[in-house]
Amino acid sequence: MKIGSYGIFAEKAGHFRLDGGAMFGVVPKVFWETMHPADDKNRILLSTSLVLLADGKKNILIDTGNCDAASDKMKSIYSMDSSEYSMQNFLSRSGISREDITDVILTHLHFDHAGGAVSDDGTGALMPAFPNAVYHVQKKQFAWAMDPSGRDRASYMTEQILPIREAGRLSLVDGPGELFPGIELIVVNGHTPGMQLPLISGGGETLLYGGDLIPLRSHIAPPWIMAYDLKPLKTLEEKERILGQAADENWMIFFEHDPAVSCCRIERQKNGFRMKEEVALNR
Ligand SMILES: [Zn+2]
Repeated sequence: MKIGSYGIFAEKAGHFRLDGGAMFGVVPKVFWETMHPADDKNRILLSTSLVLLADGKKNILIDTGNCDAASDKMKSIYSMDSSEYSMQNFLSRSGISREDITDVILTHLHFDHAGGAVSDDGTGALMPAFPNAVYHVQKKQFAWAMDPSGRDRASYMTEQILPIREAGRLSLVDGPGELFPGIELIVVNGHTPGMQLPLISGGGETLLYGGDLIPLRSHIAPPWIMAYDLKPLKTLEEKERILGQAADENWMIFFEHDPAVSCCRIERQKNGFRMKEEVALNR
């Protein structure tokens, strides 16, 4: 699919698992377990699904999934699995090389979004995985990642973030607005301070990259909010506002963590929203 001048490639770059209870906050397991079956450790299957935008000049990657060079301990805790889908496969299927990526928009710096921003240079040291890219992060999120709260410290791996800054490839964005023609950044603060969600528009179509505001299609329901969110009531307000606009203006919503449905349009229903139709972006 093309939106404005951008050709879109969307694909998974890996799978991993997180605790099902943490993914749905106050929503009881009886409501979510049929759609998201849990393993023997109560973890549900998630994808790291990414979007690449190409207009002939720029190749813009949104988020990077988990780090290939994560420790074995981390890989085991989160059941990180790159056997079927990986960043390498993502790039080969897209036909774009690591060196060709000009920009990486990181929604936020949690390890399952920013981990793949770096890779092992062959000696065990981490370096930018996309050597020619500028990495765009909200200033507020970067500051938070450098000094997170005791509650969300486990979500940040500073050793995976600092090599980007040390290589001089970090661009700190201050607030919402247009980043490139046809790509606007929405900034939300309930999940973590300064999470940026790209909104791609052109030719009558709009695609919202849901990030961790709407990570799975189940999260279309406003009260389905992750326990990871630092300010769940803020998330509720942000979801109602953004999903309302998405329903009214027929936006497509991309789900970064949904292993089954990657994109859909939504419609309003009593007390919330529901999926209207699934969308295939790679056509
Ligand atoms: Zn996430």
